[in-house]
Amino acid sequence: MDISEFKKLQKEFDEEYIGPYERKPEDFLFLSTAIAGEVGEFANIVKKYYRTKEKKVGVASDEDRDYISDMKKEIIDVFTYFLIIANHLDLDIEEGYLENLARNRKRFKKM
Ligand SMILES: [Mg+2]
Repeated sequence: MDISEFKKLQKEFDEEYIGPYERKPEDFLFLSTAIAGEVGEFANIVKKYYRTKEKKVGVASDEDRDYISDMKKEIIDVFTYFLIIANHLDLDIEEGYLENLARNRKRFKKM
């Protein structure tokens, strides 16, 4: 499945459970705070994970796996809001990503 198919699935879900995209300014206000909240949830787990690691360096435990599992869930939440925002913007993710990658290749080119 490619990313445009994920966008399509998310749009179908949103239209079924929330309603048609109207692209009102308040939609972007909600979505920007929602995705920032999910990034915050991810960062909070990372913070707690590294706090724990300071106490027991090099030990892989069930607790570590729980943190990693929670990080995965939160980054998928971020991805979900990313898809919703991309749909609201009619963003061609593949094209935009490849353009950004080309810019970054020039920007970070090794001397
Ligand atoms: Mg979350």
